[in-house]
Amino acid sequence: MGVQYCDFKDVDMDEIDAVVVGSGFAGGVMARELAERGGARVLVIEKRPHIGGNMYDEADEAGILVHRYGPHIFHTNDKRAFDYVRRFTEWRDYQHEVLADWYGTYLPVPFNKNSMEIAFGEEKAARLTEKLIDTFGDERKVTITELREQDDPELSEIADFVYKNVFLYYTQKQWGLTPEEVDPSVTARVPVFISRDNRYFQDAYQGMPLHGYTPLFERMLDHENIQVCLGVEAESVFDLEFESDEEDAPLTVINIKDRPFEGPIVYTGPLDELFLSRFGRLPYRSLDFAYETHDAEHVLPCGTVNFTVTEDYTRITEFKYLTGQESDKTTIMKEYSHSYDDPKKQIPYYAIINAENEAHYGRYRALTSALPNFHPLGRLAEYRYYNMDVIIGRALALADELVG
Ligand code: FAD
Ligand code: UDP
Repeated sequence: MGVQYCDFKDVDMDEIDAVVVGSGFAGGVMARELAERGGARVLVIEKRPHIGGNMYDEADEAGILVHRYGPHIFHTNDKRAFDYVRRFTEWRDYQHEVLADWYGTYLPVPFNKNSMEIAFGEEKAARLTEKLIDTFGDERKVTITELREQDDPELSEIADFVYKNVFLYYTQKQWGLTPEEVDPSVTARVPVFISRDNRYFQDAYQGMPLHGYTPLFERMLDHENIQVCLGVEAESVFDLEFESDEEDAPLTVINIKDRPFEGPIVYTGPLDELFLSRFGRLPYRSLDFAYETHDAEHVLPCGTVNFTVTEDYTRITEFKYLTGQESDKTTIMKEYSHSYDDPKKQIPYYAIINAENEAHYGRYRALTSALPNFHPLGRLAEYRYYNMDVIIGRALALADELVG
């Protein structure tokens, strides 16, 4: 059948039981679950000209499949999430590897026993590794924060090296902050790994959709009960009513096409923007992507190279490693991080997690607590640093709640 695209002006809201804003994994899974498990007639409203959220991929001019909103590698320990996405596409086994470009020498990231040998030489690395094993155990992951807290001079030497050569400059580029200034959970994503395992992730289930993410979303949203309106911003079609004119007065009704909509509304966009940023804009980091196509089979030694001590971009990804595509050309993508200043032209990619921003977000969230049919879900609406699998898991859990 294919995805049923529609024009918002033609939609009869009397024939819609649930509204989903956004078509990334949060919106895509919810739409499918409400339609299939709940038997609801679902309207998906998506402001971009395509479905798939940040997972959207397409062939570029050279015919290379590229990700348009950052490189996305699927990895999870959540079998339910993996089984769910496996329904919609075949998968290829892919284990992501990342190297840090350290003044022209490559160090495996997460920093591990192999990186240690390259950085310190075999003999010294053996001694330092022994110290790490004695302190933390073998095959263990240690965060840079934890490592820097150690008093032992040899552990401090490792911590200083990794801090200066892997974390400091990359984090400054990515967040405009030092590693001490970002929430420890952010750098904890990439621990020091006392292992020879060079993979970026150790999750039980890892891979890439064989034909790309966009076909996965096309199949997920291909259901007789789902209609998708592209190019429509929720703010422009939702008419919000509040308990009073007070700034903090809770939301009581969402009208769509001049009538209160009483079915479930799953909202996966930025919550502050839905309320026209009445308490000030929530801070995010945005990204610019620069693509280059080369007449070569490969230009990088692995999927991603992080530039941890040089360059003004954070990392380069070569998509063919991720997708397994064969071609005598290859496309790479550099990522440049900057603050999110202009909602009209930029995309909010990363919530900046800290106590102040969470309290700020909490004020927006409180506006929604009196409206039982409104469900903020996803990386933006929940203002969290969630990977795809967590979003899929959270969407399935919300669907369990809503449709049993
Ligand atoms: P999104 O994918 O952002 O989808 C939200 C959708 O809502 C978008 O399509 C947006 O256009 C739409 N929308 C927003 N506001 C409105 C509105 N007002 N009206 C209508 N539509 C609206 N995760 C991994 O697991 N592995 C990775 O390798 C990985 N790499 C990443 C790389 C980068 C650079 C980034 C930024 C993220 C990465 N992630 C990765 C995380 C992943 O992108 C998120 O977990 C996932 O996108 C979350 O899905 P979502 O549906 O919550 O949000
Ligand atoms: N990080 C770093 N150097 C690296 C890799 C990661 O400093 O080589 C830090 C940086 O602060 C980054 C965070 O660890 O934002 C999380 O890295 P991850 O690769 O998980 O980021 P994402 O893929 O989500 O952008």
